[in-house]
Amino acid sequence: MQALARRDGLPILKQHACFVSISIMSVPSDFLQALQGQLSQPRRIAVISHDRPDGDAIGSSLALGALLQQAGHEVAIFNADPVPQSLRFLPGWERVEVLSSKRTEAHEVDLVFNIDAAGADRISQHVRDSVKGSMLFNIDHHRGNNHFGDHNWVDPDSPATGQMIAQLASAFGWRCGSEIAQALYAAISTDTGGLRYPATTAETYRIMATLVDAGANVGEINRLLYESFPLRRLYGLQEVLQTAEFFADHRVACLTLTMELKQKLGLTPDDTEGMLDHVRGIDSVLAAVFFEERAEAIRVSSRSKDSRVSVRKVCEQFGGGGHDLAAGVRMQGTVEEAKEAFLGELVRRVGEV
Ligand code: 5GP
Ligand code: MN
Repeated sequence: MQALARRDGLPILKQHACFVSISIMSVPSDFLQALQGQLSQPRRIAVISHDRPDGDAIGSSLALGALLQQAGHEVAIFNADPVPQSLRFLPGWERVEVLSSKRTEAHEVDLVFNIDAAGADRISQHVRDSVKGSMLFNIDHHRGNNHFGDHNWVDPDSPATGQMIAQLASAFGWRCGSEIAQALYAAISTDTGGLRYPATTAETYRIMATLVDAGANVGEINRLLYESFPLRRLYGLQEVLQTAEFFADHRVACLTLTMELKQKLGLTPDDTEGMLDHVRGIDSVLAAVFFEERAEAIRVSSRSKDSRVSVRKVCEQFGGGGHDLAAGVRMQGTVEEAKEAFLGELVRRVGEV
C-alpha cells in the first residue's frame, strides 16, 4: 500500500484516506446530533432505497451500510428490486437483499435509513411493511422530497445522495477504504452524468478526488459503468433511435420503446439506461423524453438541458417527480395517449422560453 505524506509528518495509508477535505458543515446540525445520539451505542440498522435502484441508490446504500458496519453497527441493506447488472462489480453488491412481495417476513431493526427516495411512495409497500424500525432517517437530494422520516436531511442542491453520504462520513470522521470509495464514486458519477450535469459543484470534484485518494480506480470504474454493455443493447439502440421524433422546432425530442421490441431483443431495464442521452445530445434539443411500454404502465423518463424547462414540473403534473433536469412518471393508458398528454405539456412549456 502506498503511504501518503500528511502535514503533521505522520504517514497515512492510501487505502484509508479520511474525508479530510470535505466540508463537514454540509450536514445540518440537528440531523447530525440526532444521528450521533442514536449511533452512540451499537444498533441494528436497515438501509433501504427506491425501487428499481440506480447507481446513486445502490452506491449510496452500499457505502452507508459499510460505513455504519465499520462503526460497529449491525447492518442489512434491502431493496424491492435486484441490483442492476451494470453495478454488480461494486464490492458487496450481493449484500443487497431483494424483498419479494410474495413473502412478507418482518425485519425488525432499531434504525431505518431511507436513501435517495423522494417519498415513501418511491419504495414498494411490501418493503415498507416488512422493514420496521423505531426511527427513520431520510437522506435524499430530490427537491420534491416530502420529509417522510423522523429526521430528514434533504439537500436539493446536492447532485447525488452519494455526495451527502461522503459529507456525512466526513462529519463523523469515518474512514473510507477502497470499497466504500468505489461505491461512492459510482453513486456520484452516475447521478452527475460523469460530473457533467449543472448540479456538479467544486465540492463534488473535491469529494471525487478524496475517493480517488482512498483507492477508487477511475479508469476501471468508468469502464465498468459506461463501457461494458451487452451487444443486445446496441441492437436495441439501433431500433430505438429509429423511433426518434422531434417537436417544437427540434427543441423537444422523444424515443419510444415498445413491449414488442423489448421482447424481440430480450432487452432488460438496464439496457435502456442512457439511450435518451443520444437525442438529448442534439444541439437544438432542450428536453428529451423516453416512453417505455411496460405491462403495468408506460414508464416516462425525461431530461432537460435548460433550467427554464423543468421536466420535474411536467412529471409532477401527471403524478411523478424527480429533479428539474431529470424526472420520471408512470402513466396509464396506451403509449400514444401518454405521448400526447406528456409531450403536449412539455411542448407548451418549451414554447414559453
Ligand atoms: P430516470 O429517468 O433515470 O428513471 O429517473 C430520473 C429521476 O426521476 C430520478 O431521480 C427519479 O427519482 C425520478 N423518477 C423516475 N421515475 C419516477 C416516477 O415514476 N415517479 C417519481 N415520483 N419520480 C420518478
Ligand atoms: Mn440520486
